[in-house]
Amino acid sequence: MSAATPSPPPSARPLSRRARLRASLRRWFDTDMPGDDDAGGASSAGADRIDWLRAIPFIGMHLACLAVFWVGISPVAVAVAVALYAIRMFAITAFYHRYFSHRTFRASRPVQFVFAAIGASSVQRGPLWWAAHHRNHHRHADLEGDPHSPVVHGFWRSHVGWFLTRDGFRTDWTRIPDLARFPELRWLDRYDIVVPVLLAAALFGVGALLERVAPGLGTSGPQLLVWGFFVSTVVLFHATVTINSLAHRFGRRRFDTRDDSRNNLWLALLTFGEGWHNNHHFFPGTVRQGFRWWEIDLTWYGLRLLAAFGLVRDLKPIPDWVLAKARG
Ligand SMILES: [Zn+2]
Ligand SMILES: [Zn+2]
Repeated sequence: MSAATPSPPPSARPLSRRARLRASLRRWFDTDMPGDDDAGGASSAGADRIDWLRAIPFIGMHLACLAVFWVGISPVAVAVAVALYAIRMFAITAFYHRYFSHRTFRASRPVQFVFAAIGASSVQRGPLWWAAHHRNHHRHADLEGDPHSPVVHGFWRSHVGWFLTRDGFRTDWTRIPDLARFPELRWLDRYDIVVPVLLAAALFGVGALLERVAPGLGTSGPQLLVWGFFVSTVVLFHATVTINSLAHRFGRRRFDTRDDSRNNLWLALLTFGEGWHNNHHFFPGTVRQGFRWWEIDLTWYGLRLLAAFGLVRDLKPIPDWVLAKARG
């Protein structure tokens, strides 16, 4: 028997620089690829630094928007970009946020999967990753453990920086045992690049087809790809994360919550109701975020429509005591 200290298990050994670069690249395609940040978890050294290599596709998506100068513009391309913004914003706020993160209504497994896949096409990663981060946001809102607080981390970190750090890429599985039991959702999370690539390819294909069969529309494969995928997705991303960066800074505080969340009409319009963020932090357990009739909440109207068609059910209402408090 040797008296030497046993070497740590392979997963706990720090990776070499090259191995770490390779892991970052592989994780573009498979987020489950092991790496050195698995060993130390959130506290491992450099976990709060931006993983530039892994962030290249995200940065590339922004640069690809500049291609509008080459591909030109047409009414149909702009209409597709706007429609995809609307459909995917709804999937993010209604399902990634109000359904997966807060369980404020019920849906069948197929409906859950379809909207999870539409949400995944937004390039905001999988539903499990999104819900785990968001649950940590509520748990530690505007305190040290909050992944994206403008109060603790400043504007840029709360807006986009947090999304690109090594810690930001990790999924905190302890927060989502209720969701992790669905293998199809775990698959969407693991291969979170698949649905966006399918959407991009479909847009290119439809654009190329329209160029042949309806040249009068003035569109093409590259044009529909750039407007429908890159421009729409980048605008959608930055609109979504205003709720992290701006809705904890600018607006009215109706409720004296322990965080710095605000109600902001402009952000509510942009994000289909998420701008009533102080309402939401005060009582996250209801499907509604506008608490008064004039607080426009497009996601809530959309969910009522889905409920009328029987696609979702048991929408959790605002309790009377919360309504009474909201009326002041
Ligand atoms: Zn918040
Ligand atoms: Zn929330």
